[in-house]
This record gives sequence, C-alpha cells and structure tokens, in this order.
Amino acid sequence: MTRIGKTRTALVIGGGIAGPVAAMALRQAGIEAAVYEAYDSTADGAGGGMTIAPNGQNALDAIGAGGLVRAIGTPVTAMELRSWTGKPLARFAPPSRLPSLQFVWRADLYRAIYDEAERRSVPIHHGKRLTGATETGSGITAHFADGTEASADVLIGADGIRSTVRSLIDPAAAQPNYAGLVCFGARLHQSGLPSTDGVMYMCFGKRAFFGYQVFEDSSAMWFVNLPHRAPMTVSEAQAIGANEWMRILRNAFADDRTPALEMISRTKADELLITGPMENMPGVANWTHGRMTLIGDAAHAASSSSGQGASIAAESAVELARCLRDLPYDQAFAAYEQLRRPRVERIIKLGARTNSNKTAGPVGRVLRDLVMPAATKLINPEKTAWQFDHHIDWEATAAPRA
Ligand SMILES: Cc1cc2nc3c(=O)[nH]c(=O)nc-3n(C[C@H](O)[C@H](O)[C@H](O)COP(=O)(O)OP(=O)(O)OC[C@H]3O[C@@H](n4cnc5c(N)ncnc54)[C@H](O)[C@@H]3O)c2cc1C
Repeated sequence: MTRIGKTRTALVIGGGIAGPVAAMALRQAGIEAAVYEAYDSTADGAGGGMTIAPNGQNALDAIGAGGLVRAIGTPVTAMELRSWTGKPLARFAPPSRLPSLQFVWRADLYRAIYDEAERRSVPIHHGKRLTGATETGSGITAHFADGTEASADVLIGADGIRSTVRSLIDPAAAQPNYAGLVCFGARLHQSGLPSTDGVMYMCFGKRAFFGYQVFEDSSAMWFVNLPHRAPMTVSEAQAIGANEWMRILRNAFADDRTPALEMISRTKADELLITGPMENMPGVANWTHGRMTLIGDAAHAASSSSGQGASIAAESAVELARCLRDLPYDQAFAAYEQLRRPRVERIIKLGARTNSNKTAGPVGRVLRDLVMPAATKLINPEKTAWQFDHHIDWEATAAPRA
C-alpha cells in the first residue's frame, strides 16, 4: 500500500490496549510511532477478565494480531441472562457466521500485546507520565512528569478514561461519572463445577449482578457488579479490605439460586480482585485539537457492561492509522472521527442502558424479569449483529471527511 499521508512520526500516550495497537498499526502504515506509558511496568497481574468481541478480533486481524487473542482466549459461544432464581431470561450470541467472542484475562492480553509490539520493534517507554504538550509550527512536543520531552508530527491520546490528552484538547471536557456499581472478580483454578460449555452466565441477583463461566478443566472466572450508592475510588474500595468485601458479597448473594454463593465461598480473600467503580463517560465533544487526537477510552469509554470497550479501542486505533496513512493529519483526524463517532456512541448508549438494569430496585427488578424474556424473544441475532459484524478494510484508501 503506498502511503500518501504526510505524517512520518507519532507519539502515542498510554500503553494499555489502544496505545500499543495504534503503534503497531501506524508502523504497518509506514509511520514511526513510540508509546509513552505512565507506569513503570505493564499491567501484569492487574485486573480481571474481559471478552474480546468478533469486531475487536477483526480489527486486530487487520494488523495481523488477531491470533494473539485467539491463542490466549477461551471461546464464549453465548451469553445467557438469568434471574436470581436461575430462570433463563435471554440468550445472546453473535450470528453463527462470525467467530466467537473470546474470554481473556486482562493481564494475559496486555502481556501478549506488549510482547508483539516489542517483537515488531515498537519502542515502549515506561515511567513517562504526560503532563503537557506544545505545538510548534511543524510538530508537537510532549512534556513528561520526569522532566523529559519527546517530539513528533502528531500526538495520539490513548491514555484511558481519565485522559490527560483529553483535558489538553479541551480543558472543559466532561469527566467520567460513577455508575452506582462497584466491581469485583476472581479466577478460580479449581471451581469444582462442571464446564458451562462455552456459555457465560449473567445473573441479575436479588441484590447484585453475578457473571461466571466454568471452563473445560473446571477452572473458572466470576465477576460481580454490586450496587453501592456512594461513589468510591478503586483505592477506597481496596482500603476496605478483601475479607470485609467477601463478607458483603456472601450476604449479597445469600438468597440467590445461582452458583454465586458457592463460587464466592470457594474464593480465598487474597484471590479477590477489587476492580473498583464502574463508570459512565459522558460524550466527549472534542476528540481533536491541532496535532492531537484521541483513541480508546480517552475518546469513547463504553461501560464494561457493554463488553466492547477493548474491542472498539482496537477498531479506533487501526482506523486512525489507516486515515493517517492516506491523508494529511488534519484531514485524517476529521475522517477518523466521522468514521468512528456514530458507531461508538451507539455502543456506549447500549452499555449505559445495561447498567441501569443492574442497579434496578425491587420494583424495577420484577418488571425487568417479567419483560425481558418477552422482549428478547423478539430479538433476532441479526438485529444485534451490527455490533459484532464490523469489518475494517485496511487496503481501502481512507476518504477525506464528507
Ligand atoms: C471491570 C472492567 C471490566 C471490563 N470488561 C470489558 C470486557 O469484557 N470487554 C471489553 O471489551 N472491555 C472491557 N472493559 C473496558 C476495557 O478495559 C477498556 O475499554 C480498555 O482497557 C480501553 O483501552 P485503552 O487503551 O483505551 O485504555 P486503558 O487500557 O485504560 O489504558 C490507558 C493507559 O494509559 C496510561 N496513562 C494514563 N494517563 C497517562 C498519562 N498522563 N501519561 C502516560 N500514560 C498514561 C495508563 O496507565 C494505561 O496504561 C472493562 C473495564 C473494566 C474496568
């Protein structure tokens, strides 16, 4: 593919998912890119699990990296919603013509993406917390907390839901708000339960939401979204301590007829992952200013209820690289936003609606459990296919914004 955009170099701020994927995609587009990550190491060991949807795998396939996810993932063939009594409410699956979702441990995914970026000679600089940026006539210089600087043609903010680049682009940009749920999870090496045969179960418990999947070897994962009125940071949640949270979780699921209580009871306190508050991100009005733009959660954080945050982060990373390959940076940023905004906003809206089902009070809960089976019976998998069936044509030349 001949490169016709004039961008030669890029600074990518943030070494989560979007950052290294963008750097690999930019390199494939003939643009030199380096990643600058605030922390001193990767997120090894941090966080629970996540699903990578067929569309996320497709985005990674566009840069030859989809195999990474399939190598470390476990297929999720369907997701079944259940009530606190164990009654099935609805079952969702991507249409059978698409690949399965893949469940991955977050730490494994970060490690696989880092290793692949390093293998492709993408420089990843750790301990580089961006604090500011200055545009010159011909480029942009990033300033880091350690007093160092780096310059390039463009700067891409892949620095997550609390993005510094977003504030540099628009000091009045909205901040994430608390969705009323605190999240927990665990990885069980031996659950003692039979395999769920590729199905991930999502249970609307009486007092909290419980998701789980048991794998072929009886290892398992579970996660909880616990309604909690007062907002709290992840550090505040962790300060409460695993033993106290385990007690609260056992109480929360005491009446449910799902495996929640059994799985939580089999979890040792030191295995509990306190992943913190679930947040909704209000729309980000400005993705771009001058030579800076945003990708991933910095631009479009979908609530974890959507199961799409990482997948749409990968999509945006690849689409931005394609636009920068084919167009001058200002036109590339405009074309990228036009391509991405309608799709990501639709996914974000869907995730926020799921959150409100999870925080439903007693009356809302009864209504939800009554209405959902009837409503979802009407849902043809093809009607939700738009989320999963998204293909990036890397070879196609990006067109300027209409
Ligand atoms: C509990 C939970 C469950 C989830 N489940 C799913 C799921 O099942 N499926 C799914 O697709 N998504 C899921 N998500 C969402 C998913 O994790 C995010 O959408 C995804 O990580 C976004 O990637 P990102 O690279 O944009 O941001 P991040 O992964 O957050 O990475 C941002 C990086 O930027 C760095 N950074 C921040 N500030 C600076 C700075 N000033 N300078 C330099 N570096 C900086 C951070 O240290 C971090 O490494 C879940 C999220 C949560 C919280």
